[in-house]
Amino acid sequence: MLRQYLEVKAQHPDAIVLYRMGDFFELFFEDAEKAAPILEVQLTARNRGTENEAPMCGVPHHAIESYIAKLLDAGLRVAICDQVEDPKEAKGLVKREVTRVVTPGTVSDPELLEGKRANLLAAITWERGGEGRGGAAFLDVSTGSFFVRRFRSAEEGIEDLALFAPREVLYEAGSLPVELAEFAEREAACRTWLAEEHRFDSRRASDLLLRHFGASTLRGFGLEDGEPAVRAAASALAYAQSTQRNELAHIRGLSLREPGDRLILDATTLANLEVFKNQRGAAAGGKGRKGTLLAVLDKTATAPGGRLLADWLARPLADPDAIGDRHAAVGELAGDHARRDRLREQLARVGDPERLLSRAVLGTMSPREAAALRDGLGAAAAALSGLSEATLAGLAAPLLARLAATDPLADLAADLEATLAAAPATSPADGAVIAEGIDADLDRFRSLARNSKQILLEIEARERERTGISSLKIRYNRVFGYYLEITRANQDRVPADYIRKQTLVNAERYVTPEIKDLEEQILTADERRIALETEHFRALLGRIAARAAGLSALASAVATLDGLASFAEVAVRQRYVRPLMTPAGGVLRIRDGRHPVVEEVSREAFVPNDAELDPEQSQIVLLTGPNMGGKSTYLRQVALLVLMAQAGSFIPADSAEISVCDRIFTRVGASDDLARGESTFMVEMIETANILRHATQNSLVILDEVGRGTATFDGLSLAWAIVEYLHEHGRPKAMFATHYHELTELSALLSRVVNRTMAVKEWDEKIVFLRRVVPGSADKSYGLHVARLAGLPNQVIERAGEILSNLEAQEYDVQGRPRLARGEGSPASGPDQLALFAPPEQVVAELLRDVDLNQLTPLAALNLLHTLKSRLGG
Ligand code: ADP
Ligand code: MG
Repeated sequence: MLRQYLEVKAQHPDAIVLYRMGDFFELFFEDAEKAAPILEVQLTARNRGTENEAPMCGVPHHAIESYIAKLLDAGLRVAICDQVEDPKEAKGLVKREVTRVVTPGTVSDPELLEGKRANLLAAITWERGGEGRGGAAFLDVSTGSFFVRRFRSAEEGIEDLALFAPREVLYEAGSLPVELAEFAEREAACRTWLAEEHRFDSRRASDLLLRHFGASTLRGFGLEDGEPAVRAAASALAYAQSTQRNELAHIRGLSLREPGDRLILDATTLANLEVFKNQRGAAAGGKGRKGTLLAVLDKTATAPGGRLLADWLARPLADPDAIGDRHAAVGELAGDHARRDRLREQLARVGDPERLLSRAVLGTMSPREAAALRDGLGAAAAALSGLSEATLAGLAAPLLARLAATDPLADLAADLEATLAAAPATSPADGAVIAEGIDADLDRFRSLARNSKQILLEIEARERERTGISSLKIRYNRVFGYYLEITRANQDRVPADYIRKQTLVNAERYVTPEIKDLEEQILTADERRIALETEHFRALLGRIAARAAGLSALASAVATLDGLASFAEVAVRQRYVRPLMTPAGGVLRIRDGRHPVVEEVSREAFVPNDAELDPEQSQIVLLTGPNMGGKSTYLRQVALLVLMAQAGSFIPADSAEISVCDRIFTRVGASDDLARGESTFMVEMIETANILRHATQNSLVILDEVGRGTATFDGLSLAWAIVEYLHEHGRPKAMFATHYHELTELSALLSRVVNRTMAVKEWDEKIVFLRRVVPGSADKSYGLHVARLAGLPNQVIERAGEILSNLEAQEYDVQGRPRLARGEGSPASGPDQLALFAPPEQVVAELLRDVDLNQLTPLAALNLLHTLKSRLGG
């Protein structure tokens, strides 16, 4: 037995092998040791005490799905090795085979999936040599969604892994740039080495894809033969096909997702803005969905709607017209309560046609799932038709009109309606799956089985009468079939024509030729019924699979409608408004905006705030104010409102004009960064560098306490230089919250920098945060204020006041200009200052100017020459 096991294991070295033995699936050796704690079962041993001792553990076969789920959650792959012949008929060892391999990235069983999350498998290919470029394919086997991305750097690959969060990543060992491989290793739930047979050269990759899609050229997909993305796509498809042992016909298309048409959000930004994960919750190891933008906006009624909405937030639109389309649809749905309520009720009954379709294609759909699809199609059709008939004049929003015109697949719905039993059994063996009237033979076998059972009851009654034994019963078991059971007390009344079959403690079991005859009829009738039901059901699955394209289109229409209805519902409940979208490069103006999450969870009443970023007037906002004043909230609020608007949602504000952005960047100073406790100043600077390199005039940059992760002076200097840089290069709209009060002097020097501060009020011996953003900068002596209110001795407060004014005086030069502003062209007062801020050429010039040649000895001249040279770095 163990030899057979080891052979199987050798073919699946990187999967946990579940080996069927009787009513259990057993695990051996390292598999058992690794899995026992995950499965929460006892680790035991086979052949204990012998030299063949083998660690093992086991789980009952009837609950196998829940155990598989645990292994997948732990990022493991599972190979199910089942008995493939009847143990009763087997001569010697029962034949076993791996009947399926389940991996985190290729599961399609609804029991193993989260409804509102995509379940993606990623394959990554990198091209060696040259500058290197890569590509990745993302495939969701459970829905058939399949797309590729191109990477020009490892950084882009990392961004994508963070954005799409695949459950399994597939690549060739040693083929990726180190940073990318490390990230995949760390972040993906499961990493799989690409096996030989799933690696493709250019030709074979294209061939495989073209054959699968029945296409003649990849250009139709926007792809080039042999590019890394194409090879990745071939690998992903081949791997999924081989684990599923199926052609996966529901994967109907492949799309190239290019960044240009979307608002780009990097992983740090998604984390900082708490779009999908709450930072505290996530840091504590939880799912942390509470307190996120998604939690506020997701009022979808279906799982596909929930998945789509999450995708809208991860990749908002960047085209004002497309955004306007969604806004118009949301507006129309928001305006009609009755219609929206009805629509959402109907949607709630649609279920998950996308994932059901994949089950039909894989041939794993159960009769109950088919019934769910049938009922879902009915609900979908009602939702679509209700949509268009509500307004006789037609739908005003073009997007809704397009959705309403989706083919509701009436023919398939009718087919399911006619073919399936109203409430089908779990499987044909358990009862009727197919409706009456579909097949005359099937109906006949059914009634035969039913009638025979009636006849048995009649025989039972008759025999009771004949023998006078009122406890006589006709029973059934698998070994003897039908029999008569008579208690020991009544044995003397048993008629002579009964044939004894078995003796029990309290009873005897008999048969008669009549009963045997009937049994034969019942069993054969039932067997043939099962065979026919199975056959009809298979055919039905084939007919469902044949409508894959229509079903995907319908599922996607339903998801879109659900997402829009969800936006509309939230807009009404939370009093959101439709923002006016304008082309990139214009102003961002928000009147009385609110933070969508804080306003919902905070106990205080939320104070709305305006925002205005104008590329000509107020490109950069410097926000100062006391701790806890509301700076971080305000910054995130502005970014979130832009993100929401571009995703197609209405926004919490009184009105807004938003010029579309190409990217949102956020960076939070190291010590303020909850997302990663171990964040270092280095990370802070790497990310800031990334922003400075990539921000364009159309980007929105949020910097919260950047520079805080290091000592005051260099932190302040860096912050200062960063603002100057953003003002002159790239020129993105930027908001910078800072406790470096000195930075506010920049507004006097740079024309497009404005100062804002969080208003506070002293009231009743307390500082009250007004949470109101007002022009100006924070009062410098605010800390002294708080100290006085806190009751620090007057002497201390007065002395601190003296020190503060000394320090302040130092911050200005004789002309009253902030000393940090000095750079090229401004007069300097000492060599130390120069050394720190001026370029070396200027230092050299300055030194030369100060030299009095008449006083210079030859030796001093030589020394000077040496100094000058070393200042120039040579
Ligand atoms: P800062 O970054 O200035 O230290 P935060 O943005 O972290 O301040 O806000 C501090 C607290 O004030 C948070 O608990 C937040 O919920 C609350 N808060 C912030 N802005 C508002 C507002 N506009 N209305 C009501 N409460 C607010
Ligand atoms: Mg803050």
